[in-house]
Amino acid sequence: MVVSRFAPSPTGRLHLGHAFSAVCAHDLARAAGGQFLLRIEDIDGTRSREAFLAGIDEDLRWLGLAWDGAVLRQSTRMALYAEALERLKAMGLAYPCFCTRAEIAASASAPHGSEGPVYPGTCRPLSDAERAARMHEPHCWRIDMAAAVTLTGPLRWHDKPAGWIEADPLAQGDVVLARKETPTSYHLAVTVDDAAQGVTDVVRGVDLFEATHVHRLLQALLGLPTPLYHHHPLLVGPDGKRLAKRNCARPLAELRAEGADPGALLAALRSGQVPIGAADAEA
Ligand code: GLU
Repeated sequence: MVVSRFAPSPTGRLHLGHAFSAVCAHDLARAAGGQFLLRIEDIDGTRSREAFLAGIDEDLRWLGLAWDGAVLRQSTRMALYAEALERLKAMGLAYPCFCTRAEIAASASAPHGSEGPVYPGTCRPLSDAERAARMHEPHCWRIDMAAAVTLTGPLRWHDKPAGWIEADPLAQGDVVLARKETPTSYHLAVTVDDAAQGVTDVVRGVDLFEATHVHRLLQALLGLPTPLYHHHPLLVGPDGKRLAKRNCARPLAELRAEGADPGALLAALRSGQVPIGAADAEA
């Protein structure tokens, strides 16, 4: 059975870009007689808000996108992510990183990956003694990507419409597995949860394409299944041209307040376009 999911972070109101992702994931499951799940990615305790959580519920209901089963909240699953992290540590693939954001940003010549500048690996060569002496300092945990890739060997994943993709997690560098303030990261939590929820088809924007290289690697390391991926293009305007970011970012709540018709909005989104009016309003 096809199982898709919509996985917003409650750090703001849902906007048109979110609605597009949600309708793509919803329609894929419904067309196949499958299930459409809702997962709240609220691992960021400082930016997630209960009010935004309520907003997600309200906005999806207004659009008429019904999900199946209970909503999964990542904030309730920290112990599972911590367990996955321990497994990666036990495999010798995770190391503590004491660098500050400023220090990483200062190595600005670094190539960019899905999360900004690729980490230059400063803390990777620290000895066990050096690490032990610094563990009282704030630290995150990073994956030793070169070691991980050596262990898994070549990996592939399938994207519609791009086809078979050779995974290239090395280009993403030593990404974060657990943040300084949270025992997980986006990459780890998504990988654990897509498997735990039995997601067969991950539908999300093409802006997360590069992240899939990392997720594929983590699946191989943790012995988890690999879903099919559908990275959809970003929305375009009624003229077929790319939208200014602010138009994609128009909150659904704002459109609703302006009297937008949710049925017409859904129909426009299903054609991959921002509805007339919504695109022009702030232009
Ligand atoms: N929580 C992510 C976001 O809000 C989406 C994660 C995913 O679809 O894999 O952008």
